Amino acid sequence: MIRFEGVSKTYGNGVRALADVDLEVHPKDFLFLIGPSGAGKTTLLKLIYCEEKPEAGKVFFEEKEVTSLKRPDLFKLRRDIGVVFQDFRLLPTASVYENVSLVLEVLGKAEKEISEQATAALDLVGLSEKVDNFPWQLSGGERQRVALARALVGCPKVILADEPTAEVDPALTWGLMEILDELNKRGTTVIVATHDSEIVNSLKKRVVKIDRGRIIKDDKKGTYV
Ligand code: ADP
Repeated sequence: MIRFEGVSKTYGNGVRALADVDLEVHPKDFLFLIGPSGAGKTTLLKLIYCEEKPEAGKVFFEEKEVTSLKRPDLFKLRRDIGVVFQDFRLLPTASVYENVSLVLEVLGKAEKEISEQATAALDLVGLSEKVDNFPWQLSGGERQRVALARALVGCPKVILADEPTAEVDPALTWGLMEILDELNKRGTTVIVATHDSEIVNSLKKRVVKIDRGRIIKDDKKGTYV
């Protein structure tokens, strides 16, 4: 479903974030991407949804090379991939409901469908009481859950989550993981970049470890170490 073939990425300042990465992610995989800060996890995720481009190698999504996609196909790629960004990227002047429903508006859905699906997504993440709040009125954990609702509301094929547990206390972390696990059981492919060894060790999912831009471990039911 997602394939990296000999992918390297060096940023403009000369930092080599990824070096000759080969990786295959299958439909319905649940994969933890682990490794120290600066290892290249975020860069790998950005290459999947084409926010960054590789300097060498190719990245494929469903057999299409993502860097060669023109506008309509790039739009489709972004529709197929829901992203929970590390910094959430919520619209500050939009309410919780609007932050989520906007995704469906962009997809051109009818008003009734937008309302039903946005409400269901916000219910799923436990935010039905906060729909009229603005991001600045929420805790870090709540903003995180808005970001998750926004990522899942269009029923994407893949959800990418970059350090989704970083700002969240342990109880909420488990809640977040349960939602991702449930979505995965319903067929969504999930990739989570994380430092959280407890979560990784408990869930026994596929674990891909990156160190200095290289994949140094890929275990089917792995642990953090
Ligand atoms: P991780 O997510 O594992 O912490 P990143 O992919 O964010 O790692 O970063 C990998 C390396 O690339 C780090 O050395 C980081 O400083 C560098 N890097 C990331 N983004 C940029 C950027 N936009 N410009 C320059 N260097 C960057």
